[in-house]
Formats: sequence, structure tokens, C-alpha cells
Amino acid sequence: MGENKDTAFLNRYFQEYKLRDRIRLSLILSMIFYPSFLILDAIVTPDRFRAFLIIRLIVVFINAVQLFSLRFIKSQRSVLHLGMSLLWIDACGISLMVFLMGGFASFYYQGLTLVIMVMVVILPFSFREAAITMSLAWASYFIPSLFIMSGQTAALRKVADFFNLTLEIPGWRIAVNNLFFLTSIIIIAIVSSSVMDNVRRRELRSRMQLEETTSQLKESNIKLKSLDELKTQFFANVNHELRTPLTLMLAPLKTVLEGRMGPLSPALKDTLETMQRNGFKLLKLINNLLDLSKLEEGKMRLKLRTVNLVEYIPPLLSSVKPMADQKQLRLYYQHPPHAVDVTLDPDQFEKVVLNLLSNALKFTHKGGKITIYVEDKDHTVTLTVEDTGIGIPSNMLETIFDRFSQVDGSKSRAQEGTGIGLALAREIVQVHKGAIRAESELGRGSRFIVEIQKGEDHFDEDVLERRSEDMPIALKRRSSDQDEPHARDIVADFRRLQLVDLEKVDLESTHVDTAKVHDALVLCIDDNPEVLKLMKMLLADEYDLELTTSAEKGLVLLRQKNPDLVLCDVMMPGMDGHAFCRTVKNDEAVKHIPIILVTARSGVEMLAEGIQAGADDYISKPFDSTELKARIRALLRIRQVESELALVNRNLKMRTSDLVDQQRSLFLSTVKSLVTAIDAKDEYTRHHSTRVTEFTLKIAAKMGFSEKELGDLELASLLHDVGKIAVPESILNKPGKLTDAEFTLIKEHPARGEAILRPVVELKEMARVVRAHHERYDGSGYPDRLKGREIPLGARIMAIADTYDSITSERPYRKAASHRYAVKEIIGCSGTQFDPEVVEHFLEIASTLAPDQGQDTASKNA
Ligand code: ADP
Repeated sequence: MGENKDTAFLNRYFQEYKLRDRIRLSLILSMIFYPSFLILDAIVTPDRFRAFLIIRLIVVFINAVQLFSLRFIKSQRSVLHLGMSLLWIDACGISLMVFLMGGFASFYYQGLTLVIMVMVVILPFSFREAAITMSLAWASYFIPSLFIMSGQTAALRKVADFFNLTLEIPGWRIAVNNLFFLTSIIIIAIVSSSVMDNVRRRELRSRMQLEETTSQLKESNIKLKSLDELKTQFFANVNHELRTPLTLMLAPLKTVLEGRMGPLSPALKDTLETMQRNGFKLLKLINNLLDLSKLEEGKMRLKLRTVNLVEYIPPLLSSVKPMADQKQLRLYYQHPPHAVDVTLDPDQFEKVVLNLLSNALKFTHKGGKITIYVEDKDHTVTLTVEDTGIGIPSNMLETIFDRFSQVDGSKSRAQEGTGIGLALAREIVQVHKGAIRAESELGRGSRFIVEIQKGEDHFDEDVLERRSEDMPIALKRRSSDQDEPHARDIVADFRRLQLVDLEKVDLESTHVDTAKVHDALVLCIDDNPEVLKLMKMLLADEYDLELTTSAEKGLVLLRQKNPDLVLCDVMMPGMDGHAFCRTVKNDEAVKHIPIILVTARSGVEMLAEGIQAGADDYISKPFDSTELKARIRALLRIRQVESELALVNRNLKMRTSDLVDQQRSLFLSTVKSLVTAIDAKDEYTRHHSTRVTEFTLKIAAKMGFSEKELGDLELASLLHDVGKIAVPESILNKPGKLTDAEFTLIKEHPARGEAILRPVVELKEMARVVRAHHERYDGSGYPDRLKGREIPLGARIMAIADTYDSITSERPYRKAASHRYAVKEIIGCSGTQFDPEVVEHFLEIASTLAPDQGQDTASKNA
């Protein structure tokens, strides 16, 4: 591929620089100059004339052969090689003559300079080709001369003798001089050849690129043109197809509205008017698009009339007056005192003026001013529509005349519109050979200036509607005009059609039975009052409704009225539906209210954005009333089921916690009877568990246990000796020393206690404490030889309380000891039997155990 490209480039290169012609020229030059230098020979070296004549003739002969063979050589490369050989042969001829004149001593080497000059100027050699040819030429000069210099002249002398010549041996200074010059010239020649070659190649490359780009551009231009034609054609077709059914809907509607099919109830009339208004909007849009495509295709024809512009404007102004009054805008008109005649198509031009006026009305705030100026100039007339509205940014002043261009093209813009009006206005003005431009100051207002020429000579012949009388009947109606009369028929006031966008909708006029109070309240939010009206019509008989035209107002209503469901439009000026949804779903107080988003744009992305924003459902315009109602019902039902479930859940939770409390107190009383039973078994330790519990809780409270922890610990310490149930009373009450077997049996009671408690899930943790209450801090306790913090904290506390109580109470095998003695004992065992930290807390509360305990033990001791 790359190689092919290279060969193609080289061929093109040689062709571009006419390699063949240049070589032919060099050959001819050589054949002329070579013999002509015989004159020089005759003058400079007459004795060598004969020898040089032969040499020159031989060279010319070879040149002639080369010239002849050039015709037969096909490939450019061979032509190039021929050029190189031509140069070399010429050089050899000169070198031979130089040699015969004594090699380095001769000035004939300048002949080589000549040949080299011709090469650089005429032949397009690259560095490589120049280097090869030059080196060969240089060698042909240098080698024989070197022979002469080095004195090896025996063989050469014979040649000289043959021609009767004297052989001159040069001095080395001359040799160096000549050689130096020739070599330098050759180097310069190679370098310049290569530089020029590079320049030529680069130039050719960019030329070729340019050619390629140009041809690509041409191609895409052709494609674009045909696409554009297709598009315009398609546009026109589609619009026709749309307009026919639309007019067929609007025409009967008009008949019905005029009451020609019987009287209408106010509600029906209202509904039909909404249908008509929206039909008009669609018709206007289609008309504009159709006009625009006709204009772009050059199919628009003008029905010219000469009108007095001063009188032409007022009817148009009065048609927008009601809307201006509604918006409290002042309308002014300034014109010259005399008639200003212009030739134009009044119907088409009306579209221009009405469009400018309706834009001015749309984009000017309440209380603003709109002025129309008509000015009569020498050859032109200008019509200016000026407003004090929001203005247009300076970078948009040109582009607003493009199709579909809008300053605020966002989905949340405040004004309806399609961005076609000005494009159409410009096209119409342009077929009138006029000009339209906008001037504006952002925030201060805009001015649209239309300038048209006086007279009618400037109109193109082919845009004029020829008089129908001049035409054969068949041509009277162009196919594209077929629908025009229909549109005219159904819209009695054609101007109303142009201004239909500006009509305000009275929300209150919708007739529905609002007296009834329903089960659910639905909040509807949509910036288009017409859509709200539709919702009201569809839903009012089933739901109470709140209607509002912005999401901001919707939020306020939502918090005030706490509706059961919200229907919200997505594309609205200011806060849009998605933002509304996010705000609601992030507010704990109202997030439960279901939201259905309503949108005119469908598509997965839109859906995903809505769902991300937290919408509960999505419905796209145009919605079907049955579907809308079904979705509302479904969501409301889900809401209801949800809130019922929440209620049931709450009740269940309350009941469960009641049950748990009951169970706990039942359990506690059982435990207490159990403890009483154990205490009764062992007469000496009577009330032991109760006392241990009391002490344990005192220490634990000091250590900062929570209510719940204290409750659990209370149970555990009450039950700590429950395992003793399994120990016979005889052993428990034995006054003397226990046998090993008896002691082993007693030592089993913590484990048995755990076994009794473990099955009760609630008591798992307490069971662990009970099992560990005979463990010792140093790891020498039983049953598991737990050490330090391995022993549950409750058990570590209980161990101290248990010991304190057993020391201070009487046992079968010993008397009770005093409080002080018990405290001393416990301090003594801190770190071995008891956790030193718990001992510290015990000491803090020990005094509270002392008084009566002290007395008690004192009396016991006594
Ligand atoms: P549209 O149907 O959107 O009004 P137009 O072609 O009539 O389409 O206007 C194109 C845009 O030019 C408008 O959307 C608006 O942004 C801007 N524009 C036109 N007239 C005015 C005006 N009098 N004041 C401010 N902006 C204007």
C-alpha cells in the first residue's frame, strides 16, 4: 500500500517536473555545446584539435543514441538513469580531454563545472542521484590525473604519442588548487540539488493534499445539496399531510362552536374552544413551516399590491390591542403625515409585522411600551417595531433569525415558541428584496427594523404570481396552494391564527362540579394553564383539586394542604419537575406524598432522571384520560395500603413490647419464688441471695451500670446459687468439714446454675455470669479457671458481694465475722481472688454496708 503510494507519488513528481523533456533538453544542449567548444580547442590547444575532435564526436554520437532511445523508454526511473548516464558521459569526455592536457594542470576542468551547473538547474535529481552522478564525474577527473601526478605515465605516454602530444606534469600547487575548486563545486551542487528536490517534493505534496481536500469537499457539497433538497421536500410533504387532517378537524369544530349543530352547554363550549385554540396553534406552526420551506425552495409567489403603509399598520395594531391591554402594555404608532406607498404582498407582509409585534408582546414585561415607526426615506421605507422588553444579547442579534433559534432555548424557558417566526419574517422580507435587522440593549429593549425599497422594479420576475387571466385554466392553481382556501375557511379571523400563542387562558372558566368533597386531594402543577384546565376537566369529578402554574407555588400548597398525590409537569420555567420532586423527597414531612411526573418528552434518559429524582410514576403527554386516572388510583391505593400497614405495624410493636414486659415481670416473680425456695433449703444462708443481690447492685451502680444492665445483673445475682437445688440439704447444712466428694458436688453448682438458665434465650448472658461467679481473678477458681478480664464483669462484682456476705454471716462450719474483718479479707485477696478495680469500687460503698451489718455481726460474734 505504502509502496504503491510512493511509486504513484514519484511518477506524479517526474510528470509534474517533466523529467523526460528536461533530459531531452539536456541531451540537445550537450549535442550543441560539445562540438561548439572545438572553437576553443582550436584556439587554446591546436595540436590536440584532432584528438579532441574525435572525443567530442564520440560523445555527441552517444548523446544521439541516448536521444533516440529516450523514445522507447517507458518507466520514469529508466529515464532518470538515462539522465544520470548522460551527465556522466559528458563528464568522462571532458575528463579525457583534461587528462590529455596534463590532468590537474589543465583548466579544462571548468568544462565539468559547466556540466554540473546544467545538472543542478535542469535535472530534478534527489540527493542520492546527484551524489552518485557527481562522484562518478569527480572520479573520472581525479583518477587519471592522479596517475599523471604519481608519474605512472608509461601506458598513458603511448596514448599521447599516438596523438603526437607532449605530456605536461603539473606542479602540485596547481593540482591542489584545481581539485579544491572542483570538489567544492561538486559538494555545493549536491547540496543544492537535494535542497531543491526537497522543496519541490514538499510543494507537490501540499498541492496533492489540497487537490484531495477539494475533491472531498466537492463530493460532500453535492451530497449535502441533495440531502437538503430531500429534506425540504419531505418537510413540505409532511406538513401537507398534517394540515389536511387538521383542517378537517377544525372545520367541523367551527360549525359546532357556531351553534349550528344545536345549543352547547357552557362546559362543552369551553372544552371545544380549548380544542380549537390548540388546533389553531398547531395550524399556525404548520403554516409557518410550510411557508418557510416554500421560501427556501424558491416556490413562494408574491401577490403584489401597492398599499399605503401608514394605513396598513393600524388594523394590525388593533388586532394585538386586547393582548396588550391584558398585559398592561402601551402601544404607540408614529408615521409621516402623508401617505407612504409601497409595493408588497400584504398577506405575507402581515405575517412579518404580526410576528414582530407578537414577539414584542411576549418579551416585554407588564407596564412596558411598544412603538411602531414608519419612516419615509428617499428610495426606501423603514418599519421599526420597538419594545422596552428583556432585550437580546448582542451575540445573538444575528442568529435569532435562524430557524429554531431562541435566546433561551432551555426546556425551562418562560415563553412558548418554536424559533420559527423570525426565520420566516427574514425570508419574507428577503423575497421582497428588503432587509431586516435587530438592535437591542439587554434588559432595556429591542428594535426590529425592516427596510424595503420603493417601486417594483427590484422584484425577481419568477417570484411574482402571474395574473390568473393570463394562464390556462389547468395552471391556475399550483398544487402546493391547494389547502390554502381550507385554512382560510376555518379561521375566520386569519390574524387570530398568527397571534394564537398570545391568548391567555382563563383557568376559572372550566366548568366542573366543585361543590362535592371527595376522598382524595390531588395537587396539579403545570405552567400551561390549558393543561391544568384539561386536568381539571378530567379529574374534578373524582378528586378534590388544587391547581397551580409553578413548582414554587406548588411547594407552598403542598405544605399547606397536604395533598394525597401530586401531578407535576417536568418542563417548567424556574424550578422544573425533577427539582420539585427532589425537594419533596428530601423533606421528611412530605416525602410520603406520591408524585406523578408528566412530560412531553419521552425517552429512557428522561425516565431515569425522573426516577432518580424520586418520582413515583411517570406519564407522558399526550396522556390518555383513562390511563391517567388508572395511575392515580393505583398510586392512591398503594398509599392507602402503605399507611394501613404502618398502622398495623405500630400496633403490633406496641403489643409485642407489652407482652415482653409482662413476660419479664412474670419471670421475675417466678425467679423470686425460686430464690426463696433455695434460701429455704439452706437454713444458714437464709436471705443470702437477696443480700448478695443488694451488695452487687450497690457496687455495679457505683461503677456506672445502666438501668438495663442493673436489671440483668439483679436477675443474675438473685439466681447465682440456683444450681444448689441439685445439692442435697444434708451437705449444704453439714456442720463439720466436707469430704472431698461432697466438696466436688458443691463446686458443681455454678455450672448447674448455668445449665438451668441457659435454655431461656433472654438469660443467656446472665447464665454466663452465674457460671463464672466462683472464678478467681488469678485463674485458680472454678469451673473454667477463667482469668482476669475473661471473667464477665458481673461475675467479678458478684464474687466480692458473695464473699462479703458469707464472711459476715454464720455458716454450719464457722461463726460470722465482723464487717471490718470481711473488708480486710477482701482487700487481702485483691489481685488474687478479686479484680482490684472492682475492689476499689467496693471499698467506696463498703461503709454503706457497715452500720447495721456491723451491729448485726457484732451481735452474732457476741
Ligand atoms: P419564537 O417562536 O421562539 O418567538 P422567533 O423566531 O419569533 O421564535 O424568535 C426567536 C427568538 O428571538 C425568541 O425565542 C427570543 O429569544 C428572541 N426574540 C425575538 N423577539 C424578541 C424581542 N422583541 N425581545 C427579546 N427577545 C426576542
